[in-house]
Amino acid sequence: MKNIPLVAPTSPADLETKGTSFPQTLSDHGLSPLIAKDIRSLQINIGKLCNQTCSHCHVDAGPTRTENMTLDTIKAILSVVKKHPSIATIDITGGAPEMNPHFEFLVEECRALERKVIDRCNLTVFFVKGKSQLPMFLAKHQVEVVASLPCYSQDNVDQQRGKGVFDRSIAALQQLNQLGYGKEGTGLILNLVYNPLGSNLPPQQHKLELDYKHELRTQFGIEFNQLLTITNMPISRFLDDLRRTGQMDAYMDLLINNFNADSADRVMCRTLLSVGWDGRLYDCDFHQMLDIPLADGLPQTIQEFQFQPLGNRPIVMAQHCFGCTAGAGSSCGGSLL
Ligand code: SF4
Ligand code: SF4
Repeated sequence: MKNIPLVAPTSPADLETKGTSFPQTLSDHGLSPLIAKDIRSLQINIGKLCNQTCSHCHVDAGPTRTENMTLDTIKAILSVVKKHPSIATIDITGGAPEMNPHFEFLVEECRALERKVIDRCNLTVFFVKGKSQLPMFLAKHQVEVVASLPCYSQDNVDQQRGKGVFDRSIAALQQLNQLGYGKEGTGLILNLVYNPLGSNLPPQQHKLELDYKHELRTQFGIEFNQLLTITNMPISRFLDDLRRTGQMDAYMDLLINNFNADSADRVMCRTLLSVGWDGRLYDCDFHQMLDIPLADGLPQTIQEFQFQPLGNRPIVMAQHCFGCTAGAGSSCGGSLL
């Protein structure tokens, strides 16, 4: 490969805070270039259609979005998964992934290939017309459910995710519990996702998990497996919010000042590849949302997939990468340390 651009050409200019660039910071810690070491997980963004319009959404998803993965693209993904047994996890996200008409086909085929399947579920989708069978479907196929619940208090959840979302989320979690999700010995994994309501870093994951478990058990009788804390990325809707409230510089300073080399070494893009609704490949879902393509010279679509160059690829760095490396780090699997 020649002339690989390791720095995203489309990184929003105003993220270049005080001249502290992400590539330079990595280089100062002997961690540059950032190179993938495997593809253990394929994260598929199956579409931008969603029944919610959350204020922090990095996908800008909502009920009027029309981008949805086609059956042909799903079949191309399945053919890659079939050929490469080391891709052990299929992580399906959106939008509300279950609103894509081919969601169930994708899940069934991946489970038939004995892959772990994760559904990044917003919970309220269970109450969308025609989706009431979803919890049973997920349990039948032993799909791991990763569900957002940014707080255990109604006001905070409704403020970030919309009026009435908290009550419906609680009802959905109770439904999942009744099916065995989050209960020991069932093999049905239910993980919850926390992201801060404002412009601060998440608290310590394990400590917060204990609080969540206590509150949800005593208030609602809800059980779950793990809490995953995720840092808000300074992109899309959250970026607009930071700009609108004049907190942009302070938030970038927070991320930069908390750069942690141990977290940087473990960023998720080193073992994950992201697929867009149209089959294009990206280093991660955040790059996907900003249309930052893989480095030049690499296969750019799922139809062109080649394991060797992609599993060993140089990762394109951008200023929002500071969101993955601050403090205990952040990934779709929670904190990195
Ligand atoms: S539920 Fe998820 S995808 Fe939908 S708007 Fe909220 S954050 Fe975005
Ligand atoms: S945003 Fe995070 S996951 Fe994406 S390329 Fe940067 S460090 Fe990797």
